[in-house]
Parts: sequence; structure tokens; C-alpha cells
Amino acid sequence: MPIVEGPFPAAAVAEWSHTADLVIIGLGIAGACAALEAQRAGAEVLVLERAGAGGGASALSQGQFYLGGGTSVQTACGYDDSPDEMYAFLRAVTTTDEEDKLRSFCAESASHFDWLEAQGVPFAREAYKHKAVYTRTGEGLLSTGNEKVWPFRDKAKPAPRGHQVSGEGEISGGNVAMKALLGTVEREGVPVLYEANVIGLVQDDDGRVVGVAVRKDGGEFFVRARVGVMLAAGSFNLNDDVTSENMPLFSRYGKPLGEPTNDGAGLLLGRTVGVAERGMHGLVATASIYPPEDLIKGIVVNAEGRRFVAEDVYHGRMANKLAEQPDAKAFLILDEEIFGYPKHGSHTFLDAYETVEEMEAALGVPAGSLATTLERYNADMAAGEDTEFHKHPDWHKVLEAPYAVFEISIPRSDYHWMSLGGLVTDVDGRALNESGEPIPGLYAAGACTNHLAQDGDEYASGMSLAAGSLFGRHVGRHAAAVAAGAPA
Ligand SMILES: Cc1cc2nc3c(=O)[nH]c(=O)nc-3n(C[C@H](O)[C@H](O)[C@H](O)COP(=O)(O)OP(=O)(O)OC[C@H]3O[C@@H](n4cnc5c(N)ncnc54)[C@H](O)[C@@H]3O)c2cc1C
Repeated sequence: MPIVEGPFPAAAVAEWSHTADLVIIGLGIAGACAALEAQRAGAEVLVLERAGAGGGASALSQGQFYLGGGTSVQTACGYDDSPDEMYAFLRAVTTTDEEDKLRSFCAESASHFDWLEAQGVPFAREAYKHKAVYTRTGEGLLSTGNEKVWPFRDKAKPAPRGHQVSGEGEISGGNVAMKALLGTVEREGVPVLYEANVIGLVQDDDGRVVGVAVRKDGGEFFVRARVGVMLAAGSFNLNDDVTSENMPLFSRYGKPLGEPTNDGAGLLLGRTVGVAERGMHGLVATASIYPPEDLIKGIVVNAEGRRFVAEDVYHGRMANKLAEQPDAKAFLILDEEIFGYPKHGSHTFLDAYETVEEMEAALGVPAGSLATTLERYNADMAAGEDTEFHKHPDWHKVLEAPYAVFEISIPRSDYHWMSLGGLVTDVDGRALNESGEPIPGLYAAGACTNHLAQDGDEYASGMSLAAGSLFGRHVGRHAAAVAAGAPA
């Protein structure tokens, strides 16, 4: 059975079983935030959720929100940040052409943090100061991007912006966040139909989306939307057809992040009415070499024995650069002083080697290649500057025999990944067609839309939950304003 059908012509709908101003497809973070904002602003909302409960991938997530510009956690932890510094960093690291969205993401970030806390999402006023992918020790703030990485550290003042939801002992910070948001949705009486699978959009003769077709309890019915329908149905990470076409390497060797309903229903519903798509090859993958953070003092080389990246980069950037190497193959070379097992990624420990020549032969890299790489690297370290990739001095160290090597190749390690491309929207969350025009009556937000970061080079952990919740709120406010008489 196809995931979606349609679009269904409105003229053929004999009866609408429900009507609301804003009909939201999916109760993950984007849908929940839209629903709260729309209902509070006076709109009639109906959420249709395919699962037996809300949460989606949001409830499985680590619960990191990329927020800044001077949030109360940043300030309490002694970090200076401003919307301008946040923008300067994100402008430098991303290639997005959605300038208005990027600016609004930065300008509203600190107040959006306050809003999340006001819904009951908890963040501790304590910072984790080491390199980590996430923390489960209660800190509410850590660095989750490339802020301290060259050249970005020269373009914007680095500040940690990974806001980690608290919840020691919980299965994940995302679960804590979604419990709070879903609790608020319930307390405020937002109407939700569960086990309601939206299978198609309903369009009138003018191309306006006026409702949806729903399959529930073995039957089918139609729901009418006076103002609009919002696609908040999550990612397509678990849709093999879409991922094998767009991201063949990771689709073959990596492990997609998500839960069973992340089969791309939102994307496919958008396709039926001509929503434009952007960045469909983009993804962020992770099999971080840290922690322990001392491993960053090693070097990462490809199958030609050459470095290709600064080892202190955000783990998603490392995976992106690695994917570009021959056979997506790479090795992490350490010495005795910094040896440790990477916590993530199931990287394979190969062996320890007394000499560079022995190591070159065992790794199958060209004879002399590692000797040349190490000679230049060690000279740089001794001189205090990584002239090739500008690794931050915090991670400088001369490497000495004996060496130890982990293979971190994409086909051999566990690279978890999620897509970053998707449907195109404007800053209000209105879905756009190929000409950049809003498709009347259709909104979208969250992981079925394209992210501000186009790939792992650009991403910072937390950008998905932060943008999904913030732009979800934009949809709610816009739809409520239209319901109250503002132009669509
Ligand atoms: C393990 C893991 C860790 C992650 N960690 C982070 C992190 O720390 N920070 C971060 O920013 N991002 C993280 N992400 C990514 C992030 O969780 C997602 O991108 C984000 O939660 C997407 O939110 P959403 O509301 O768009 O979709 P979801 O939360 O997936 O919600 C979509 C909802 O739509 C419903 N639905 C789907 N199809 C239909 C349909 N046809 N009809 C009705 N309902 C439908 C689903 O059942 C689901 O409830 C992580 C993801 C995973 C899986």
C-alpha cells in the first residue's frame, strides 16, 4: 500500500467529518509547538497523529536545542553571546540561501528558549566544558558545533549553544522535552485524534489545500481545514526509496536515526501538490572520534595516508569530509600517551605499531605516505601551528612511536545519520512551489522541511529541534492570524 495518495479533489468530498482552522499532521515537536501557538492565539486546531501517542522522533532524540544570542542559561554560565554573533557564526558555517529564516532563527533564539522553559522543558544552569556529543550528567549547556574550529573561530566569537534538556536517568532529553510539551498540549485541551493516518491532501479547483484524507480504525474520512493544513509528519530517514536515491553511501552503510513513522509521509504529501524540495542529498552523520577528548590530539588520515580534516571539528563535519575520501576509508592514529577507545561509533581497533613503516604496511597506505604526514604534522605541533588544517592549539601534540590505530571508515563503523533536506517553506512556514510562491492552504515545519544546515559540514547538534519548534510556532501564529482575518 502506498504511504500517501492523492491529491483528492475537494469537489469529490461528500462529507467532512471534522473541521478546524488549522489541521496539523503529526504530533512531534513541530506539530506540538504549532498547535499550542495557534490555539492560544484563538484558532481552532485539530492534530491528526498516526501513532497511538504523540512524540515522534522528537521523543527519541538527545534533547539538544541549538539556541543562543544570550539565553538565560548562557548568561548564568558566564558566556557572552548575542544574536549578531550567533548569526555571524551560522552565516559563515552554512550555505543556506534562506536569509530571512536564518536571521529570525538567531534573533528569536533567546526568547524561544524562554518559551520552551515556560512550557515546562527543563534546562540546568550549568555548562559542560569538555568535548562531548551529548551529556547525561545534568549540565544544560555544551558546545555542539564548529564554533571553535578554524576558520569560524576567527569570524564569530565562539559560544556554546547546545542547550541540553535535563533528565538524569531518563531515556533521553528528547523524551523529557516531549513529555513537557505533550503535557501542555493536553492540559490546554488541544484536540488530537490518535491512530489517525493522513493518507492524502484535499485540493480545490484553485489549487488551494482545503483538507486531508484520513485512515483510522479501518475506515476513511475527510477533515476540512478553513485556513490551512500543516505538514509536521517528520523525516524520511526510514524511507529506503528516498534515501537510497539521494544518499546512497549512508543509506547502504549507515544507520538512519528515527522511528517507524519517519517514512517520509510529510515529504510525499508535499510532493502530491508540488511543494519544492531542497538539499535532498544533505545529511548529518555521526560516529564521533571523541570522547575521550584526548583522541582529538591524534590525527585522522585517509587511505592515501594523508590528513583531510582538522581533528577537532564537530563530529558531523568529520563524517562529511570522510565521506568524500577514497572508499570512505579513514584511520585515527594515536600514540601511547593519548590512547583510549572512542566511546561512539564502534570503531575497530586495528593494532599498535612500533614504527611508521610497520603501520603503513598494515594499513595498506602507500609506503612513505604516513612518514611524510607525520613529519609535517609533528613539525607543526612543535612550532605551535597546524599549518595544514588549523586544529586549535588545545589539541596540539607531537605524536611519538609506538602508535595505535582505529579504523573509522564509513563502511566499517556505525555511522548514525539523519536527513537535512526536504520541503521548502518561507519564514512563516508556508509551503512554497518551485517558483517560490506559497501553495495556498499549506504549511510545513520540522524534519519534513529542509534544514538551515545543508549537510554535516554545516550542522550543529540541536539545530533540528530548535528550528522545528521555532518555525512550528511561526506556523501556529500565522495560521491564527489568518483565521482572525489577516491576509494569507
Ligand atoms: C536518536 C535521535 C537523536 C536525535 N537527537 C537530536 C538532538 O539532540 N537535537 C536535535 O536538534 N535533533 C535531534 N534529532 C533529530 C530530531 O529529533 C528530529 O529531526 C525532530 O524531532 C523532528 O521533529 P518533527 O516534529 O518534525 O518530527 P517527529 O518528532 O518525528 O514527529 C512527527 C510525527 O508525525 C507523525 N506522522 C507521521 N506520518 C503521519 C501521517 N501520515 N499522519 C499522521 N501523523 C503522522 C509521527 O507519528 C510523529 O509523531 C535526533 C533524532 C533521533 C532519532
